[in-house]
Amino acid sequence: MTKVYYDNTVTEDALQGKKIAVIGYGSQGHAHSQNLKDNGYDVVIGIRPGKSFDQAKEDGFEVYPVAEAVKQSDVVMILLPDEIQGQVYKEEIEPNLEEGNALVFAHGFNIHFKVIQPPENVDVFLVAPKGPGHLVRRTFAEGSAVPALYAVYQDATGKAIQLALSYAKGIGATRAGVIGTSFEEETETDLFGEQAVLCGGVTKLIQSGFETLVEAGYQPEIAYFEVLHEMKLIVDLMYEGGMENMRYSISNTAEFGDYVSGERVITPDVKDNMKAVLKDIQTGAFSDRFIKDNENGFEEFLKMRKTQQGHQIESVGRELRDMMPFVKAKSIQSK
Ligand code: NDP
Ligand code: MG
Ligand code: MG
Repeated sequence: MTKVYYDNTVTEDALQGKKIAVIGYGSQGHAHSQNLKDNGYDVVIGIRPGKSFDQAKEDGFEVYPVAEAVKQSDVVMILLPDEIQGQVYKEEIEPNLEEGNALVFAHGFNIHFKVIQPPENVDVFLVAPKGPGHLVRRTFAEGSAVPALYAVYQDATGKAIQLALSYAKGIGATRAGVIGTSFEEETETDLFGEQAVLCGGVTKLIQSGFETLVEAGYQPEIAYFEVLHEMKLIVDLMYEGGMENMRYSISNTAEFGDYVSGERVITPDVKDNMKAVLKDIQTGAFSDRFIKDNENGFEEFLKMRKTQQGHQIESVGRELRDMMPFVKAKSIQSK
């Protein structure tokens, strides 16, 4: 079994006395910096002028342009969108790094795909919470945490592992558990998980089920309940006790149907398709497409987003959620 680090197994406070620059104050940035600060660490924020800049100031941080924050600090955590990191690194971070500094990430993308090639005299590691930033902050404030992964890419000081674990403890992750990985494994499995299962797989599965029912003449509202709303209830049961717990809780009819129809829907060729998706991740074909589209003003990205937002399941869902106060309905508007 892999080793899991908890609060009491990380005893060396390697981060103590270091100045930490958190670059970016979005989903992950606000959570890391606030948790570190609450744990007594010296944190400054590096960010461009704008919404996040104002928010970080309002939250009581010292806020600087990225270059200035890097210059002052020993540990630099890069929490910018992945597609922005390469350029900001070249222009504002790299020229201000000093020997013995640490360069830290929450996702291995830019190091693994060699968009960022750091100098040999700095530590490079990642601490990747396995959950959205807002949950990282909320669970910390409640006294618990989101678990995290850590990996060391480059150990220039001989202290990179201790620093990584200390950082993971600083953001609270050792309360829940921290597991070691590599940049390659973190990057490729993270991308695969979100593409094939969590985001891409699940949304297409739900949409296909919704369309099948609506095209067969059933009410869209009923279809929404059966294939989207109930998804959370089922996922919660799996989260708590695996598929066997979910199957224990559902009716025998549902469990029987699960066995006879699951494999008719997810046929063996779906796994072949997943293997092809994984190959594109491993060869860099996916990252190239993402990076190139970003250079092209995200033309493809924004078009796909618009198409998806126009799907009938979204308008039906919006109306239904408004009628269910317990759902705490959220409305998302984006470009
Ligand atoms: P967000 O998009 O939420 O936040 C990005 C931040 O970067 C914002 O504060 C934004 O400020 C700032 N920013 C954008 N462009 C620039 C620029 N050119 N110069 C300076 N600041 C800029 O990012 P996330 O927190 O989602 O992602 C950060 C990292 O964490 C990524 O590597 C991601 O893969 C990783 N990660 C994310 C998870 C998540 O759930 N979100 C989970 C685990 C890892 P402004 O307001 O000015 O735009
Ligand atoms: Mg991801
Ligand atoms: Mg049912």
